[in-house]
Amino acid sequence: MAALGQGISLGRLGPVPIRLDPSLFVVLGLIGYLQKPNPTVDDILVWVFVAAFCILIHELGHAMAFLAFGRKPSVLLYGFGGVTSAEGGMGPWASLTTSLAGPFAGFGLGGLILLAGLTVGRPGADSLVSAAYLYGLWACFGFGVLNLLPILPLDGGAAVSAFLRGVRGPAGEQLARYISIAFALLLALVALRFGQIFATLFGAMFAAQNYQEVKRYRERPQREQLQAAYDALYGPRPADAAGAARPLLATKASADLKEVAAEVLVWAELARGDGAGARAALGQRPGRHPTDHRPVGRLAEAAVALAEGAGAPAVAVLAASLDAGEHGPPDVLFPLLERAGVLPDLWNRLGPDGRASLQRMHAARR
Ligand SMILES: [Zn+2]
Repeated sequence: MAALGQGISLGRLGPVPIRLDPSLFVVLGLIGYLQKPNPTVDDILVWVFVAAFCILIHELGHAMAFLAFGRKPSVLLYGFGGVTSAEGGMGPWASLTTSLAGPFAGFGLGGLILLAGLTVGRPGADSLVSAAYLYGLWACFGFGVLNLLPILPLDGGAAVSAFLRGVRGPAGEQLARYISIAFALLLALVALRFGQIFATLFGAMFAAQNYQEVKRYRERPQREQLQAAYDALYGPRPADAAGAARPLLATKASADLKEVAAEVLVWAELARGDGAGARAALGQRPGRHPTDHRPVGRLAEAAVALAEGAGAPAVAVLAASLDAGEHGPPDVLFPLLERAGVLPDLWNRLGPDGRASLQRMHAARR
């Protein structure tokens, strides 16, 4: 089975590889089923194929722009639409053009459909051709206009973001996020007023998503400092990580960031041989939400217990956390295990994943 988001390969259209995730048909089918009372199976099938074709043309519009800027794009059709991506960054003006190329390719196809209707004459009212004609106009213009809303990650939002980056530099990105939040909330309210549940949910979801990004961006200096602490922890002098990690715990950073900072501090204190300091650092982790059962942090807890002489109970927790995929700085962990004389016991308790992980950490020792 194809992994979610990977899709099935449909081959290439010229230089552009195209993949399809079956979720496209599920979502389009659902929209076709809901869009009018008592739809026939033919109706839904015609809608799904016409809409999928319009979406393909939209994505190929993005792909052509990527090609024009010397990139190698690939198209994935899934869910409510698709995504066209290419490796490597692009300047703001190239990004702007690429973002707009999708909706305008769709408008081009819609225009051709309209032109065909005007020249050949509109097909008879009850035929499937008539349904395809109307659905084609709907999908090409509707999908394009929706996508031009100035809300990230929609094309319109991406275009606004690229424009503001071109005019104001990197800070433009943050402004685009605020614009996205405002328009997403507006979309949610207007959609709610007209009883459009899907659009209401989309608006609320986009607003929340952009709010998260705004918070992440504000935290950038702290994230960079945390990265420096992390690098120190895995470098030649792990004890030095304390200097970068400790101040972060006194800032207004998010709970996620503080959790990692506290954990880095735990290992740095252990590297200094300060068991009491490591215990205190464990206590500085922000409280977990009761439903948060991530295994994060158990390895550090067990390492502190081991440093305090807990022996066997600590080894059981170490084994469970290593089996769950946690890892720690090898130059702190291994001396601890060796001093406590628990390496053979730990090895015997580990499953295959934990053993592989321990071996990788051992290989990374300096
Ligand atoms: Zn697009």
